[in-house]
Amino acid sequence: MNTQSFALRHIGIREKDIEKMLSVIGADSIEELIEQTIPADIRLNEGLTLPEALTEQEFLNLSQNLAEKNRMFKSYIGMGYHESITPSVIKRNILENPGWYTAYTPYQAEIAQGRLEALLNFQTVVCDLTKMEIANASLLDESTAAAEAMTMLFDVRSRNQKKENVVKFFVSEEVLPQTLSLLQTRAIPLGIELVIGDHENFEFSTDFYGALLQYPGKHGQVNDYAEFVSKAQESNIKVAVAADILSLVLLTPPGEWGVDVVVGTTQRFGIPLGYGGPHAAFFATKEAYKRNIPGRIIGLTKDTDGNDALRMALQTREQHIKRDKATSNICTAQVLLAVMAGMYAVYHGPEGLKDIATRVHNYTKTVAETIKAYGFEQLNTVYFDTIKFKVNNVQGIRTVSESKGINLNYIDDETVSISINEAFTKKDIRPLVNCFVESQALNEKGSITEYEGQTIPDALVRKSSFLEHETFNSYHSETDMMRYIKKLERKDLSLNHSMISLGSCTMKLNAASEMLPLSWARWGNIHPFVPVEQAEGYHLVLRELEEQLNVITGFAATSLQPNSGAQGEYAGLMVIRAYHESRGESHRNICIIPASAHGTNPASAVMAGMKVVVTKTDEQGNIDVVDLEEKVNEHSENLAALMVTYPSTHGVFESSIRYITKLIHDNGGQVYMDGANMNAQVGLTNPATIGADVCHLNLHKTFAIPHGGGGPGVGPICVAEQLKPFLPSNPLIETGGEKAITAISAAPWGSSLVCLISYGYIKMLGAEGLTDATKMAILNANYIKARLNGAFEVLYLGEQGRVGHEMIIDCRPFKENGIEVTDIAKRLMDYGYHSPTVSFPVGGTMMIEPTESESLVELDRFCDALLSIRAEITEASVEDANNVLKNAPHTLAMVTSDNWGFPYSRQKAAFPLTYVAENKFWPTVRRTDEAFGDRNLMCTCPAVEEYAEV
Ligand SMILES: *Cc1c(COP(=O)(O)O)cnc(C)c1O
Repeated sequence: MNTQSFALRHIGIREKDIEKMLSVIGADSIEELIEQTIPADIRLNEGLTLPEALTEQEFLNLSQNLAEKNRMFKSYIGMGYHESITPSVIKRNILENPGWYTAYTPYQAEIAQGRLEALLNFQTVVCDLTKMEIANASLLDESTAAAEAMTMLFDVRSRNQKKENVVKFFVSEEVLPQTLSLLQTRAIPLGIELVIGDHENFEFSTDFYGALLQYPGKHGQVNDYAEFVSKAQESNIKVAVAADILSLVLLTPPGEWGVDVVVGTTQRFGIPLGYGGPHAAFFATKEAYKRNIPGRIIGLTKDTDGNDALRMALQTREQHIKRDKATSNICTAQVLLAVMAGMYAVYHGPEGLKDIATRVHNYTKTVAETIKAYGFEQLNTVYFDTIKFKVNNVQGIRTVSESKGINLNYIDDETVSISINEAFTKKDIRPLVNCFVESQALNEKGSITEYEGQTIPDALVRKSSFLEHETFNSYHSETDMMRYIKKLERKDLSLNHSMISLGSCTMKLNAASEMLPLSWARWGNIHPFVPVEQAEGYHLVLRELEEQLNVITGFAATSLQPNSGAQGEYAGLMVIRAYHESRGESHRNICIIPASAHGTNPASAVMAGMKVVVTKTDEQGNIDVVDLEEKVNEHSENLAALMVTYPSTHGVFESSIRYITKLIHDNGGQVYMDGANMNAQVGLTNPATIGADVCHLNLHKTFAIPHGGGGPGVGPICVAEQLKPFLPSNPLIETGGEKAITAISAAPWGSSLVCLISYGYIKMLGAEGLTDATKMAILNANYIKARLNGAFEVLYLGEQGRVGHEMIIDCRPFKENGIEVTDIAKRLMDYGYHSPTVSFPVGGTMMIEPTESESLVELDRFCDALLSIRAEITEASVEDANNVLKNAPHTLAMVTSDNWGFPYSRQKAAFPLTYVAENKFWPTVRRTDEAFGDRNLMCTCPAVEEYAEV
């Protein structure tokens, strides 16, 4: 045994356990189990061609060496990204803390109150700074958020506008180029017509439904849009503004002009640049649009005892419910980054933020005045942090700047802009100014005068207060902040407490060695628009990761741009669309999707301009081939694609898959494989072998990026040769295929920083470790199935009676005892467990996915818990709802109360099995009331008076 092997650390099952598990399962060997699970005609004949596995130490050394190849410039490029300072207390206690980064989306509110509070803080920051009524808890980046604004406003066009077919959307030429590219991508399939121009000359005609402005503009000009907004309102044109969050501390917030939506990024609230991401975007709007907001909204409600509790609000808006009626496919967002940005505001408070913004502004003025004193002409009159100059020698300035390790924004042959950030200090003034001075061989003048006091005209000066809530005025010492973060962390059940067996989500180990490099400045502090040669370390990693994923999927090329699985779906379908168009077959617009598909599938298809045709699943949960054949024949002329999840969302490797993919190809369609279940394939089969043409991978599922409580994610798409030319581009940095579609994300390589995690995962496991991980994931799932046998019915099995890496247990029969699936989910909390996935893809069921990282001891504890609950179900009855399941979860307050009015013991309530006592996890609230919260929607930190009213 090689004790240095990372596979031994990543995989929880020990060699000695395997035989015992196989005997419980009833298989002679792992190989036999796999043969019974995966159809023979799709098995790979050879192992993955990947280099030998590295030890953890070797990987850390490699990462260090690669990091050295990134050149550390001072980047004043701006364009939506700014160097910022992550407070160490946040870095250490959140970014580097598995208590925060290993949690899942807070579906089980009672054991997620910590991050729910942190996200409520985030929403409060956004609402206060923008002066809007309601905000979500994050989107993927500023550009996709702007696209969501464009599509939401399109969707809510008033009835008479719709009749007239009003489809024009005005985009100010001040909007960031990456945002414009994304708007183009998203507008075309929906039939939205973009009109780009100068907002000052805009004619407010009735064929426009909306407009997007940038505040401050892309090169720093701060415009007063009050008049534009009021004219737009008169013409029934809705206005969205993409705003810089830090500038809003000093500038009039767009909400005060009456705009409809404000979007932006919170990157500069303490989030590393990370060569493009991840960062949390925000989306704030009017209460009137609350049912149309994309993404998750955290809201306040009550628990069973009437105490305040938080949970995700208005869930019926989401694509899981609305499917092909949905207008957004956002699922994974940027929760961890939103938590951090919110905490940045908590730590600095309103005064701290004012100080930071003022300092940035004063330095900007100092730099502007100093450069002007040398005779350079400044082109923007009103600015916050970005100044633009006319120069006659851009190349000269660039040469001097680069020799000093400085990046400016070189706009064209005669214009340069500079964006100042929080990390700027007095020492940085002279070198920056000298980029201009030396380029003209001017003489350096004496000392620099530092300016104070703002240059912003009165109408644009913010007068309203913000962040008055106690939370933002209490934790300004490190001790207090550390304890506040810890207090919230303790309310949440994460992977550092117990297994989280959420089916379809693959909650595996996020190894510390994979995570460590994220903290290093040489990875964190690289602006996405630096010249590519400055980011050589990144390019070596990104290129090799693309190659690794090509090998694993069997495909020809990969784009790392999409920031989530759903974005990957959209990207893949847009690539298919471009492919059909290139062949003169743009009429192909039918996308066939099985009824059991994840909600993002139909939502993505509609966003890509396709029509969804649903195909049935048969009794065994497989695609109903007869029904599929009918649909394919009917739509053969216009067939664009089939979207298929493999193994299916039912956890089974369908044996007809090759027939199915061939059928689609024979009828002119392309096959999109949803790769969320890739953890059951790696090394054993692959999407190319089953006959797919494109798939997305959820690097935050199969490839070890932590879920972060609901993001970040990376959803790369891997494509066959014929689709490679269409991979997405970026308007500023060359990437993508030669006939590339426009941007899918703002940054050229999406969330580059967290790609380091998947890179390390593959590097350290190597071909054999990756394949073993897949086998152990399948072993663990089949072991759980065997242990639950007789107590819970597993709904779907493969032809030889096996499940893949996950399984669905039926909880509907327990209705006879008055027990719903939710009761089981909540009761599991009393046993120290997070529930498996509830009611997806089948209502009233649970989907269990243990992953390869869990030990046999943990699997057994979990099975013991479920079997014990099964016995409790038998004791329950419809007539008497006062039982241990219906009252679950039990809080510490209940169990220690002087009044214990329940017909079972405190012991049974809180310590139902002996293992629980050793490591008890207390849910901090009782069951949350969904309906109450949705009726009384409150999505920001409640003021003390509001508390009293509710
Ligand atoms: C997780 C998942 C998705 C969506 O991925 P996100 O990264 O959350 O956008 C799509 N399909 C399936 C089957 C999934 O499990």
